[in-house]
Amino acid sequence: MKLIDGKKISATIKEEIAGEVQKIKDQGGKIPHLAAILVGDDPASETYVNNKSKACEKVGFDSSTYRFPSDVSEEELLETVDFINKDHEIDGLIVQLPLPDHIDNQKVIQRIAPEKDVDGFHPVNVGRMTIGLPSYVSATPHGIMELLMRNRIDTRGKNCVILGRSNIVGKPMSLLMARNEEPGNATVTVCHSKTQNLPEITSKADILIVAIGKAEFVTADMVKEGAVVIDVGIHRVPSDKTKSGFRLIGDVRFDEVAEKASFITPVPGGVGPMTIVSLLMNTLKAAKREIYG
Ligand code: NAP
Repeated sequence: MKLIDGKKISATIKEEIAGEVQKIKDQGGKIPHLAAILVGDDPASETYVNNKSKACEKVGFDSSTYRFPSDVSEEELLETVDFINKDHEIDGLIVQLPLPDHIDNQKVIQRIAPEKDVDGFHPVNVGRMTIGLPSYVSATPHGIMELLMRNRIDTRGKNCVILGRSNIVGKPMSLLMARNEEPGNATVTVCHSKTQNLPEITSKADILIVAIGKAEFVTADMVKEGAVVIDVGIHRVPSDKTKSGFRLIGDVRFDEVAEKASFITPVPGGVGPMTIVSLLMNTLKAAKREIYG
């Protein structure tokens, strides 16, 4: 079994990005700039946005955060998006989700200019990805494709089973794995809560991508000998073995599945570290006008 080391790969990619930023600086070009909109004071959202700013700083990007109280009006938020869309200094814009209930998430996402939508959530980017045009791909699926590519995992003609069909993970993953380029060119089956005979389907997978949000749901008997297993799930569970009093586990029962898998992502340190790095990669593409010219 080979561990897919997302921590190491993400560190390498950050170095590559920092190198590109240095080149841009040396040539007197514009430094990539990522802006984030943060509404309310949810500690998890606050942490995500802070981590994104720190990651920007580490690779030499400029970053800015537009903060609003949780009672901000939808109109004010939309005006801010319009303002950022027109600001030539800013290359990429993300809106930290979820937004408060009185604000329509989709309305805000759809207001972001597609060329600045580095989260890849705008329907224009989702549509472009679907028909194989250059697009921003959302962070988690983008990170998984990068992990497969950098570990030289052969996906062509393989039987790929995806557990979960969410808009942010399962659905885009299925499109990317089925696309006519590599990584991709796999024969894809998407499973969800109404799927029957799940273990029968998963145990035929050469590549099993698990994003169902259920702790240690996938057990060894559900996995084919030699399969590649990608675990997207993250769950915080109590532990008396750690200082913090908790530990992170995935949607896959790691110890027993690792014995059968040819490649497997750990939790933590697998898919997780790739998400912020994917956002940085998209922001660099935005600054270089690689997607929309
Ligand atoms: P989600 O929106 O809750 O979607 C879960 C999917 O799993 C749904 O399609 C659901 O089916 C399906 N499902 C639920 N129970 C099932 C069952 N018993 N059998 C088969 N399918 C079942 O989840 P998500 O946003 O994709 O996230 C999945 C997990 O990944 C979560 O643990 C989340 O925290 C984690 N995550 C991690 C990262 C990262 O950076 N590592 C990023 C995003 C998410 P239905 O459609 O029929 O309801």
